[in-house]
Amino acid sequence: MTRVFNFSAGPAALPESVLRQAADEMLDWQGSGMSVMEMSHRGKEFMGIAAEAQALLRELLAMPSNYKLLFMQGGAIAENAIVPMNMLRGRSGADYIDTGEWSKRSIAEARRYAQVNVAASSAASHYTQIPPRDSWQLDPQAAYVHICSNETIGGVEYHFTPEVGDVPLVADMSSSILSRPVDVTKYGLIYGGAQKNIGPAGVTLVIVRDDLIGQALPITPSAFDYKLQADNDSMLNTPPTYAIYIAGLVFNWIKAQGGLAGIEVRNRAKAKLLYDALDASEFFSSPVQRADRSLMNVPFKLKDASLDAAFLKGAQERSMIQLKGHRVVGGMRASIYNAMPIEGVQALVAYMKEFEAAHG
Ligand code: PMP
Repeated sequence: MTRVFNFSAGPAALPESVLRQAADEMLDWQGSGMSVMEMSHRGKEFMGIAAEAQALLRELLAMPSNYKLLFMQGGAIAENAIVPMNMLRGRSGADYIDTGEWSKRSIAEARRYAQVNVAASSAASHYTQIPPRDSWQLDPQAAYVHICSNETIGGVEYHFTPEVGDVPLVADMSSSILSRPVDVTKYGLIYGGAQKNIGPAGVTLVIVRDDLIGQALPITPSAFDYKLQADNDSMLNTPPTYAIYIAGLVFNWIKAQGGLAGIEVRNRAKAKLLYDALDASEFFSSPVQRADRSLMNVPFKLKDASLDAAFLKGAQERSMIQLKGHRVVGGMRASIYNAMPIEGVQALVAYMKEFEAAHG
């Protein structure tokens, strides 16, 4: 068996030990005689699995008790609608910060339900930076301020938590959640799909301050009403049971790496290795402003785009896959989520040097 270094932006690589444990437990989970996939979501076995996953995540994020943790479905794209449905709370408008493709998606969807004020945008600089906080035109009456913590496509990330006064801060953390510690108390709501740092696609994480829920728009589907889901322990409908089980194994793995502080050290070391290589090269370059570079998604360009295909082919031959950049940005993108070992980044950097020596 050969495992590749998978640089996919998501669904992305998972820790090998997690996959092995899941394989071991596939037919018979801990003497139950069943696969987790076959369990009733209301049976004692799965209730235990879900409770443990919840407890582990609360511990990793040091979540205070006045925050609800929900395991939902629909992904971050569904949350783009679910957030305004739940969070307008009698107000008509919300502020959005536009930092790239995923915030644009959030804005377009929110416009169906809310008056959206784009309070700041980095469109003019081709989304290569986070708009400086002092340029934001926030509305103090806004129901919330929405940011995308890490733009998976453009590779820009907030390295600060924006101060927004008493208005709740809402963050799409799909591609940065669990990559480093985060102060949950600075946010009214955090959401994200699982398929980068958490587990398989299909479960969506929602962390919400409890005083903000309970005022959903009447059109809100019950399954997407945060209060109803919170009151039913995320089991108003059948939850994505297998994805929650794998997420629990991943949370355990993160704990064993020293929790989020330990994971951050690893992630910073990986990102530094790659950005240093890009900055030292005459041939490869990063389009993103230094201060706002993502630790998780690293877009980069070759000096001569006609060599892109040759670069990708050589990478594939060396068992490094999914390095092609998103079509909107072009070039390459290396996604180096938690489960990417430093050896993968070392192999990529060594290959980049080899390629530059041959073609530079
Ligand atoms: N937001 C961000 C930051 C993302 O990276 C993605 C997926 N790549 C999405 C939203 C959309 O997530 P999904 O397809 O799971 O709904």
